[in-house]
Amino acid sequence: MSACLSGGIDFYVLAGRSGLDSIRSIRWPSMSSVPPTEWQFLGLNADNWIAISSAVVALLGVALAVRYARRSAKAAQESAQVGRDAAQAGKEAADAARRSAEEAATISQIERERRHDDLGPAHPGEIVAVAEQTSGGRSLFGSITVARGYRVKATGWNGTASTLISLPLVLHANQPYRFHIEHFPADAQKPTTEELRFAFWSPIAEDEVPTWSCPCSRPTGEQADGAGHWELRVPVGYRRPPRVRGF
Ligand SMILES: [Zn+2]
Repeated sequence: MSACLSGGIDFYVLAGRSGLDSIRSIRWPSMSSVPPTEWQFLGLNADNWIAISSAVVALLGVALAVRYARRSAKAAQESAQVGRDAAQAGKEAADAARRSAEEAATISQIERERRHDDLGPAHPGEIVAVAEQTSGGRSLFGSITVARGYRVKATGWNGTASTLISLPLVLHANQPYRFHIEHFPADAQKPTTEELRFAFWSPIAEDEVPTWSCPCSRPTGEQADGAGHWELRVPVGYRRPPRVRGF
């Protein structure tokens, strides 16, 4: 056994406080100097065990790498899921905000339309034409009264053509306005004017009536021409006066 220790590696162990007087030299066997027969275990020599150890270490490395890769993949999946959840939550929040904005816009639009209807002139159902004798002959006249001041333009429509109706540009509230519809000879049976078409606008600053405005975006009446902010088509009614029989 002493022969086996020759050529080994020296180990020095510090056993005391100063260390110098307690140094003992221990000589351990060198692997390369040990005869193969003395390092055999389970029928394997040192080189075999070194190879096995290296293989085990390599396998452990592979196992650790696989485990790390699996953990990394799982973490990546979880991270991706968190990202998808966040994106979904963001999309749902955006959808909710969009729906809320659309509902608010719809409600606002409904309120504007309700206000528009409230501000418009009431439809009279019909305008009854009344025949009267004037210095220029016999004519039909109608009348209109509005609840608030408007700018107005009116035309009479006979089915194929229209005629401008003579009315003031601005109508004052609660004041009846009488207007000429058509000439109506004594032998006429009924008016040729079938309906009256009115275009109304809210008054502007220069009009001598209280100004007001509608919150909707329909045309305004600066020019008092073209499309009206409110438009009414009113049929013309006529009832022949009862014939008076003489004796
Ligand atoms: Zn309006």
